[in-house]
Amino acid sequence: APVDWPTRDLLSHRTAATPQRTALIDDETGATWTFAELDQRVDQVAHVLETLEIDHGQPRIAVLMDTRPAFVSVFFAAMRTGMTVVPLNVRETASELAAKVERTAPVAVVCEEATESAALEVTAAVESTATAPTVLTVDEPARERTRRLCPAAGSDTAPSVDPVSLERDDPLVIMFTSGTAGEPKAVRLTVGNLVASATASAFRLGVDPGDRWLCCLPMYHMGGLAPVLRSTLYGTTVVIQRSFDRHETARVLDEYEITGVSLVPTMCKRLLDAGWEPTADLRFVLLGGAPASSELLERCRAADVPVYPTYGMTETASQIATATPAETASHEGTVGQPLVFTDVTVVDDDGEPVSAGEPGELVVSGPTVTPGYLEAAQTDSAVGEYGLHTGDVGYADENGRLWVLNRRSDRIVTGGENVDPGEVIETVCAHPAVEDAAVVGLTDPEWGERVGALLIPADGRDGDAEIDLEPVLEYCETRLAGFKRPKTVGVADALPRTASGTVDREAVRDRLRETGTDV
Ligand code: ATP
Ligand code: MG
Repeated sequence: APVDWPTRDLLSHRTAATPQRTALIDDETGATWTFAELDQRVDQVAHVLETLEIDHGQPRIAVLMDTRPAFVSVFFAAMRTGMTVVPLNVRETASELAAKVERTAPVAVVCEEATESAALEVTAAVESTATAPTVLTVDEPARERTRRLCPAAGSDTAPSVDPVSLERDDPLVIMFTSGTAGEPKAVRLTVGNLVASATASAFRLGVDPGDRWLCCLPMYHMGGLAPVLRSTLYGTTVVIQRSFDRHETARVLDEYEITGVSLVPTMCKRLLDAGWEPTADLRFVLLGGAPASSELLERCRAADVPVYPTYGMTETASQIATATPAETASHEGTVGQPLVFTDVTVVDDDGEPVSAGEPGELVVSGPTVTPGYLEAAQTDSAVGEYGLHTGDVGYADENGRLWVLNRRSDRIVTGGENVDPGEVIETVCAHPAVEDAAVVGLTDPEWGERVGALLIPADGRDGDAEIDLEPVLEYCETRLAGFKRPKTVGVADALPRTASGTVDREAVRDRLRETGTDV
């Protein structure tokens, strides 16, 4: 029968085409892998995965690993052997992880030496014995610190693993969302979703054979995994940095003449604070995961950072829309048009499309959109006539250019009036004493909700957050209607954030309840 999606794992296609190009550079050790070398390593790991006891057709493996080359080998080995990867967040507690393992029922938790004890703790905490997975430790053999252009002569004589043939709809990854709005959702992503995402992204950003994409976001989120997949599809290099650090990341951007990087806004701001200046090689900084303030975009422009504000989500294998630097300058605050093949419809509370310029919920459809959450009931409540309801509120102009305002669940309703937290944030941040802020609804016995604001002072960056509230509140009085003004105010060094950079609103609420002042 003809195969309409003739694909083995992406890496073996890529290796056949450009075996000698550099696939991977590990900043931690300085080691490099060509595609041929990576392919050989993946083959070894695939052999190990084949020893796992599998009793059904669509086996899953959970991966509890840091952002390191071993993660990449395990990921492609799973693809080669037809297993679905469930990346786990190494920062979570054993009981949080055990709950995710129970939900996804993997045959093994694959870890590295550094995460082995955590993996054992997780499997011990898995309650139903029916789903207790094996712990499998896969460590990357030490490599010399060299930048060889040619692969070492193959010493491995084991026969190659025969790659399974993949169909477009085969599940490749089950990725958890960041859990900003509650319990993280388990998102199924297919080979088709991930290839479509990589393809559409390339149409927006372009691909240069000399591209080097820095991956410094965790690989257990889409923002960290996407560059790995994309670079493999494109035949370009990914440089892996275990975690972001303003000085170290600035160094890596420089040292490896990085051409592209994905960052969340806080990281970009920290780089600029540290005095980072982009090299001439840098083609794009994908800035997404959370809204980028106009102040940050202004600073990027001033520093010649080629910034591409991006709106994306786990459910769409990352980017939905991306703006170019030129658009960023001409259309303030936009995240640009949807990527090619992706459609975004803005709908009202009844699910009916609204006209250009009108705010509503963003609904997304296209080949990058997940076939559904692991838990079917979640899919049913998220999918409507026009596609997947993102829960995000925004608007589009006549050209389909998008602006993201906030999340539906962020809307504060106080005494029957709707408050847009973004407007309150914009106002308080315009005061010179305030550097950043989070605005949330707090339960109020009289009004249903009241506006709470957590303020980050402009000075006192290092540890002693203090702010003179009086002038800030006075400032709000002349600029915001009474119901929009913060009624509970707190001060902190930094906004609590989820691993992917979004403001952790529940933590903000806790903080305000504990330390906020009612005004
Ligand atoms: P959960 O779905 O569990 O609540 P989450 O939505 O934060 O978590 P992710 O999939 O990592 O999990 O994040 C996607 C969300 O991030 C988007 O739906 C949107 O709310 C927000 N987001 C991403 N990019 C932007 C942006 N450029 N501007 C504003 N918000 C953004
Ligand atoms: Mg979400």
